Amino acid sequence: MVLDDLGSSLRGTLDDLRGKSRIDKADVDEVVKQIQRSLLQADVDVGLVMGLSDSIKDRALNEEPVAGTTARDQVLKIVYEEMVGLVGDSTEIPLESQTIMLAGLQGSGKTTTAAKIAWWFSKKGLRPAVIQTDTFRPGAYDQAKQMCERAEVDFYGDPDGNDPVEIAREGLEATADAEVHIVDTAGRHALESDLIDEIEEIDTVVDPDLSLLVLDAAIGQGAKQQAQEFEESIGVGGVIITKLDGTAKGGGALTAVNETESSIAFLGTGETVQDIERFEPNGFISRLLGMGDLKQLSERVERAMAETQAEDEDWDPEDIMKGSFTLKDMKKQMEAMNRMGPLDQVLDMIPGFGGGIMDQLPDDAMDTTQDRMRQFEVIMDSMTDEEMENPQSVTSAQIERIARGSGTEEETVRELLSQHKMMDQTLNQFKGMGDGDMQRMMKKMQK
Ligand code: GDP
Repeated sequence: MVLDDLGSSLRGTLDDLRGKSRIDKADVDEVVKQIQRSLLQADVDVGLVMGLSDSIKDRALNEEPVAGTTARDQVLKIVYEEMVGLVGDSTEIPLESQTIMLAGLQGSGKTTTAAKIAWWFSKKGLRPAVIQTDTFRPGAYDQAKQMCERAEVDFYGDPDGNDPVEIAREGLEATADAEVHIVDTAGRHALESDLIDEIEEIDTVVDPDLSLLVLDAAIGQGAKQQAQEFEESIGVGGVIITKLDGTAKGGGALTAVNETESSIAFLGTGETVQDIERFEPNGFISRLLGMGDLKQLSERVERAMAETQAEDEDWDPEDIMKGSFTLKDMKKQMEAMNRMGPLDQVLDMIPGFGGGIMDQLPDDAMDTTQDRMRQFEVIMDSMTDEEMENPQSVTSAQIERIARGSGTEEETVRELLSQHKMMDQTLNQFKGMGDGDMQRMMKKMQK
């Protein structure tokens, strides 16, 4: 993730300010130095970093802290606001009929992103179609077709065609029923004049409402030149940063946004069609600074719950708050958790869990947790309905049978049962809580 270490290093410095009611120049210099180091390491343009440092310094020393806040809160607020300013607003994507063209170098993630954006629009209730005009990269057609099938969206391409402009024209006609057209274009390893000529021609035929530049988060300073050239040839309305799930830095992409005076539209966070997020500057920076991103988290939870429920209409998560919490409920919750994406990404969105805490966990902690969840699922498959409904009455003999049946250790079965008991007890405390209580609790978590 971009600036991965910024949150934790910054939090350390900010924690040193705890208890101070005013900060002095030395404190501010230290905070700014850390921000500079992180941003430069993440390949953000030097000019941008210097501009940001000056504003933070100026504001931290001259603005009066809001009554009742500590120096730490004040600095955090300023850093947060300035960082949000640096990444800028999110590209506006109206939920209406439109044509979007994707441009970028080969391997940046265009084809994958085209299917992801189509999936995103389909979830918003619009009918999208992907038009694949990349005749240059072998395999682009098959890859796009498969991903669109997975996303359950319309697709047009011509595996034997060799004229991208012609394919674009035919594609728009063939998918006239769709409301949103997403046109994927070819890339090269580097910007070559024939690529620019080709994309300009496609641009003329397609006449897109919006052209988005797809950039791999790992791109460094080269982003600047690329962004300039695409901006000159087709005009860049927004940027998509892909592969943010990797160890990439992402700063180059931020620089490109600045260079094209555009904004970030989407973020790519994985290889499957669902791994796309609308860019939300506030949530993004909160997450970066370890302040969590409750909005993104609640969207993911809602989607995962809805999908899990859609599979089994008899199961209603609301029942958990009313009746008893059985192993069946726990299994459904685990399925929903799996749908929410990798655990570390999810935890990153929870306030207080961001950056710092995750860094302190041993590297394999996450793998262990996910392995354990998988084992629990196998165990539950070996249990009878009666045992799933009444896990508290499972006997030692039954535990032995379940362990044998699932090829696991008895100890693991016991662990599952005790985990269920713990969750049941925790849930009991929440039962009877009104919505107001829940909101108060969420507010508390945000602090
Ligand atoms: P194109 O040449 O620009 O069309 O790039 P592709 O869509 O073929 O993507 C290149 C590679 O990057 C493929 O292996 C994709 O699976 C992978 N990829 C694309 N987006 C992401 C992302 O957000 N995260 C990860 N981890 N991989 C991605």
